[in-house]
Amino acid sequence: MTISALISIDMEGISGTVDTDQTNRYRGQDYQHMRNIMTLEGNAAIEGCFEGGADRVLIADSHGSFRNLLPDLIDPRAELITGAPRPLCMMEGADQNIDIALCIGYHNRPGEPGVLSHTIRGSSVIQNIFINNIPASEFDLNLGIAGQYNVPIGLISGDTDIIREAKKSIPNIIGVSVKEAISTHSAISLSPQNACELIKKSSKECLENYSIFKPKIYENVKLSVEFSNDLMADLACYIPEIQRENRKTISYESDDFVSAFKLIYATILLAGTLTN
Ligand SMILES: [Zn+2]
Repeated sequence: MTISALISIDMEGISGTVDTDQTNRYRGQDYQHMRNIMTLEGNAAIEGCFEGGADRVLIADSHGSFRNLLPDLIDPRAELITGAPRPLCMMEGADQNIDIALCIGYHNRPGEPGVLSHTIRGSSVIQNIFINNIPASEFDLNLGIAGQYNVPIGLISGDTDIIREAKKSIPNIIGVSVKEAISTHSAISLSPQNACELIKKSSKECLENYSIFKPKIYENVKLSVEFSNDLMADLACYIPEIQRENRKTISYESDDFVSAFKLIYATILLAGTLTN
């Protein structure tokens, strides 16, 4: 039997990241530098997965443009999923017979403590996203997407706040804290070297014990988006299946989590055109 792992890697929860100057491809003075550190953390996870018994490792670049990892510096044993658009977004690859998924560089949801907390888009577009009326992080959404393919998530790295939140959904998830938020734009951070050591060791442990983690499966789901203004919700309602909850909030209900996610994602893209 072969074991396949999927790593979904974001940027806000990487060691040393505290500001959009480090994460914004177009306006970030330090963006190019942070791509290196993101690549180091990705490689640490890949190495740990292989040491823990993985036969196949896919790594899905999952921040912004989905083109941040430096392809020539990624461990060549892994398969790199890069670029957008792609149907499963941050969880692309979950449909490839994956046994276990790992989330690296993750962050908390909007309005909550943590470094650069948001869900999918910043506060200029999204105030909150809800799963069955409960505010959701990107981790929560990706847990639902992975679950539809029977894929559990066994590890999350990022700041202490998202790890605390993730443990509410998956109590036995392995949490790797690489920094503790002081404010949304400041943190006490591990050095990238120490963060990588910890990520490697924990990814190995995750793979060695992959069968103890259980997928989160939804029978029925309502996904809602509270936009930043009425006009964004007005645009979303051009899609006939979308329900209007109130002036700023729209929703869609389905027995298929991935379809619900795709429709909600399309409304976010529509709403986002108002800020371009
Ligand atoms: Zn991101």
